Amino acid sequence: MQIAYSHIKQVKRLAKELKQAHPTLKLSQRQDIAAVQVLGVRNYHEAARRYDQWLMLHVHISPDRNGASKCTFCDFTFAADLKEDRDAHREVHEKLHEAGEALGYFPANFLQREKMKSEGRKQALSNESLETRIEGVLLALRGWFDRSLNNAISGEYWRRHPSFELYVSMILDTLSHLYADLLPELKARYGYRPGEISPGKSDWYPKSR
Ligand SMILES: [Zn+2]
Repeated sequence: MQIAYSHIKQVKRLAKELKQAHPTLKLSQRQDIAAVQVLGVRNYHEAARRYDQWLMLHVHISPDRNGASKCTFCDFTFAADLKEDRDAHREVHEKLHEAGEALGYFPANFLQREKMKSEGRKQALSNESLETRIEGVLLALRGWFDRSLNNAISGEYWRRHPSFELYVSMILDTLSHLYADLLPELKARYGYRPGEISPGKSDWYPKSR
């Protein structure tokens, strides 16, 4: 079982509650009891160690001592040997993880998005069938959508961010004229909602900020 921050929070909450039943125990002792009860691990130390492992799961540690380490899950770049940097990473990583869990969808990282955009563009502009070209433009739009959603998670307005289907209907004025012959089909499938995303922009923002 992976131990995420939500689990650590549960342990801390229970450790607090246990004070009534065990007024003479120190906080660390109550945390140990809570870790066993909530997570079935040996003690709090083990829970914290496994949580750190989970946080660092997608981090590529720089082989160079002074180099930057990068997390491929949340795209955060940091100095892994500095505590304040690790804390900053934890905050970004947790935010993305919690939003993704709640949405049931994790936006792709930077490299994946770039790949979706270039492959999608190539497919959309090919001589293949209309259906294949529509699939291509949707793949490219998925790359844009994931970045927009990622920004919404950092900006903490992701709960209001449109679904992919709605996003497609809002982004059509930003699409290059190269895709003009695909527009009628996209409008027929997804609808057309101009004015929600400014032409030329690909990120959705809430209207009242
Ligand atoms: Zn991360």
